[in-house]
Amino acid sequence: MANPAPLDSPLPLLGHWIAGQRVAGQSGRSGPVFDPAAGIARRRVAFASRSETEQAIAAACAAQPAWAATPPLQRARVLFRFKALLDAHRDELAATITSEHGKVFDDARGEVTRGLEVVEFACGIPQLLKGEFSDSVGSGVDSWSLRQPVGVCAGITPFNFPVMVPLWMFPIAIACGNAFVLKPSEKDPSCPLRLAELLAEAGLPAGVFNVVNGDREAVDTLLADPRVGALSFVGSTPVAEHVYRTASQHGKRVQALGGAKNHMVVMPDANPELAADALMGAAYGSAGERCMAISVAVTVGSAADPLVAALRQKLGALRIGPGTGAVDMGPLVTAEHRDRVRGYIDTGVAEGADLVVDGRKLQAPGLGQGFFLGPTLFDRVTPAMRIWREEIFGPVLVVVRCDSLAAALDIVNRHEFGNGTAIFTRDGRAAREFTRRVAAGMVGINVPIPVPMAFHSFGGWRRSLFGDLHVHGPDGVRFYTRLKTVTGRWFPDDAPGGADYLMPTM
Ligand code: NAD
Repeated sequence: MANPAPLDSPLPLLGHWIAGQRVAGQSGRSGPVFDPAAGIARRRVAFASRSETEQAIAAACAAQPAWAATPPLQRARVLFRFKALLDAHRDELAATITSEHGKVFDDARGEVTRGLEVVEFACGIPQLLKGEFSDSVGSGVDSWSLRQPVGVCAGITPFNFPVMVPLWMFPIAIACGNAFVLKPSEKDPSCPLRLAELLAEAGLPAGVFNVVNGDREAVDTLLADPRVGALSFVGSTPVAEHVYRTASQHGKRVQALGGAKNHMVVMPDANPELAADALMGAAYGSAGERCMAISVAVTVGSAADPLVAALRQKLGALRIGPGTGAVDMGPLVTAEHRDRVRGYIDTGVAEGADLVVDGRKLQAPGLGQGFFLGPTLFDRVTPAMRIWREEIFGPVLVVVRCDSLAAALDIVNRHEFGNGTAIFTRDGRAAREFTRRVAAGMVGINVPIPVPMAFHSFGGWRRSLFGDLHVHGPDGVRFYTRLKTVTGRWFPDDAPGGADYLMPTM
């Protein structure tokens, strides 16, 4: 792990992890990695060239056949050891997340835990890879299925979960017998390199897992290289579309998870205090930089006024500061992103929305030059406004008022994104109706952030996911394996000969 450099020395430069070791970047290109709470760059990260990325793919290709030939139970044992190491290094990883992403330390610990749970799931790979068997599909003919690895897989991940999102992908890919090349976010690259070290310590053979840091050049190399068979992407929708289109054109299996605008419908019978508490955590936790953050509250009928009043009161008590302290919300990831989110607050005001709490006016001790922005609440927002239509990805919650559950469903389903959604109600029939009719991949009933556990699969609908399969859980195993169905028979010594020209039937 690189340490902060003394002020008068050049910043340490993070490189890559290829064929089981740290490798210095050679391209001459790099970017700053900020400590968002302090507002200063602590290190730099090298951006891999095309040839460096190809070296990582070559290392994965060299390691994959022997790894695929390793029995699943032995592969699982490596993952068991990796899980124990993640447990032992949970605080260290969380502290690094906080120092590069800015989220609150306990929230970062939660991120590590949710990632670790995917490793626990992947430890069951001998059971998960068991195929199906049909005895006697014909006279003396049996049929069975195998799930075999795709080969070399790649993952491209966003800044907001530098540990959890990579862990959504590679533990299952590796457990299935693939080798993996990870291209993490250039904004918080330290943890993925640390995960590579822990995998090596767990006994993973060199080359099975590789990390190339970088930007579009590394990504575009992974998208086009014919040796990469399957590619998982998580990030913003414009990039997800580019990734999905390009990698598909190059014949790869692709899952590309994109942006979100998650709506929580609050029915008039919901307890306004409980609904407001749920919204506080879901909208402002991790400074709203979660793909499952709730960024729109849709109030039905009389739910609006008490909810907005409760939110206004709770927002006054929200503690903001560096994520290492006793706070509820840290800074945004970069100054550029903070300014982009602030720009959306300006837009909302210009569009005529009712600004109930203005995060631009944030004043609190100890914020210094950090990339902080206060929590913001808009009321009386309409679907015509950009602050409803576009993903803001910051601590901005908008309230849209409507008259009925049908109108609320229309608002939710009209949005281009369909990642997660939730309903707060005491009416089981309303919840059932909502669950069945809403067009989103993950639905919560009185649960504001319905992120599926590792043994279920995670993914949105519409422009929140391009591709057929969701990540982790059963879909993860399907994505990282190819199905083979075998039909076989053994001839008796006295088998009659003769060709059969008809379609075989029973
Ligand atoms: P991003 O799209 O900017 O970056 C994601 C990855 O793509 C990074 O590794 C980045 O280096 C790379 N990248 C960026 N621009 C590229 C380009 N032009 N060509 C090729 N590669 C490029 O996303 P981000 O800002 O890191 O993360 C935030 C976004 O991710 C939000 O939109 C959020 O909703 C989304 N997200 C979605 C999910 C989900 O499960 N659907 C989960 C987490 C984050």
